[in-house]
Amino acid sequence: MDTTRDFKVVLLGEGSVGKTSLFSRFMLGDFDEKHNSTLQAMSKNKRLNLPDGRRANIALWDTAGQERFHSLGPIYYRDSHGAVLVYDITDRNSFVRVQNWVKELRKMLGKDIVLAIAGNKIDLEKSRSVSLEEAEAYAKDVGAEHYSTSAKLNKGINEMFTSLSTRMFDAAQTDKSTEETVLVARPSGRKSPIVIDDSASSSAPSSSSGNCCS
Ligand code: GDP
Ligand code: MG
Repeated sequence: MDTTRDFKVVLLGEGSVGKTSLFSRFMLGDFDEKHNSTLQAMSKNKRLNLPDGRRANIALWDTAGQERFHSLGPIYYRDSHGAVLVYDITDRNSFVRVQNWVKELRKMLGKDIVLAIAGNKIDLEKSRSVSLEEAEAYAKDVGAEHYSTSAKLNKGINEMFTSLSTRMFDAAQTDKSTEETVLVARPSGRKSPIVIDDSASSSAPSSSSGNCCS
């Protein structure tokens, strides 16, 4: 079993929901009241020790604020192992935006990406406009995990990244065990990859021929 792995994780969500604040909290241990519109997409690495002894090397990406102009393309999230979809619990519209991101990510990356949905600004509970029940039910429905966070009070953030990392590890492990099954099934002593002749076995699952032509 691998005990250390690299993961790319992107932050997504409408402008002002608190993505950059979550980024600063988790990566820099810092919260800045000022609203700094991020100038460039940026990433930082952080190593996270999981309770089970595994280590996740997270490259976390924050947007350059392009979401404000609806111009955040697949180039930003491609090759991601995980995504944190952030909404502001006081802003219903930002929750709808999360649902659009889920649709786009599932369409572009399928089941390969592990999704976390973060209801941020829980310190503003009095002004909540998205109920926790609704958000959790939605997350469950789309195979995501829901977390409640406050970048301001530093609540729920480490827990979220720890849990997300565990799930990304498990997803990677599942991939690997499928690979291993294939390897074991090969005739012993054979080193070269098995070539599947599509003309002879048109019923071969498409995933077996999915590695070509990049
Ligand atoms: P982004 O546009 O999604 O990157 O959002 P920012 O991180 O720039 O935050 C937008 C505004 O929300 C800023 O004024 C932050 O100080 C504020 N903010 C971010 N997280 C929280 C939070 O957990 N609680 C409260 N009350 N304000 C927050
Ligand atoms: Mg930002």
